[in-house]
Amino acid sequence: MEQLVEGRIVEYGKLNKIYSDTVYLRDYLKALGKVGNQTGLSPPPGMPKQLFSQIVNGAPPRLGPLPVEGDNPYLVKELGCKVSTDRGERPLGAIVDLSKGVRVYLVFEKPQTVVGVDVGLRHLVTAVAVSSGRPVKARMWGDEKLSMEFMRFLGEPQGLSRVSGLRQRVEKMFEEVVVYIASWNPKAVALENLRETTGRMGTSLRILQETLEKVMYNHGVKYRRMSPLNTSRICSNCGYRKGDLVGSLFQCPVCGYVADRDYNAALNLALKCYYTC
Ligand SMILES: [Zn+2]
Repeated sequence: MEQLVEGRIVEYGKLNKIYSDTVYLRDYLKALGKVGNQTGLSPPPGMPKQLFSQIVNGAPPRLGPLPVEGDNPYLVKELGCKVSTDRGERPLGAIVDLSKGVRVYLVFEKPQTVVGVDVGLRHLVTAVAVSSGRPVKARMWGDEKLSMEFMRFLGEPQGLSRVSGLRQRVEKMFEEVVVYIASWNPKAVALENLRETTGRMGTSLRILQETLEKVMYNHGVKYRRMSPLNTSRICSNCGYRKGDLVGSLFQCPVCGYVADRDYNAALNLALKCYYTC
């Protein structure tokens, strides 16, 4: 995955000459009324062959990706030009676009997205996407009613038929959830590892999550099971490990951060996976 960011040209090197040759050649070809091999022309001195053949064939005049050297501003040695950028990381290369003036784009590796997913009783599913180490998107699905109903009937022997009905509703919602998460194009999806959980609530959550995992699997969304240790108690803002859970809120006594507790848990899962997956 790559991303193009326009750089600032701080030294033009051969770019000005190449651009004026490009404009001249384009006008000349127009006047000649010929294209491609019919022209019988050869490239003007100093014009890269790639560019020449694009121009005579009427394609957008673009060069690259070309290798870059040195530190910001980066040197495109082949063209003797220097380009600076605000981005901290090193570009993979440079692309020169001569279709409307001279523009140089730097090619960066696109930041990857990791999604943390919390399955809970207040919000059935809470998903938070992290990119470049920061939360960038979040969404919640379902309400307390559906999951409480699910938990209640799960414990009753005569509740099985009710459970299978609820299960279908839940699965339908999970379909939506997974399609939406997949649209964020994540590198990985992090879930809590609920294998060890017990009790009626724990069992409900585990069944719900296994259903979600099945839907993810069917949609080709890759997921990882992360240790549930302190997921809900860690402050996603400062990293303090023993934050307070008050009703539906997470509160950090150290930095004062307050957030929805499901959001905080999902963000912690995403961050854990972002740095370790
Ligand atoms: Zn904090």
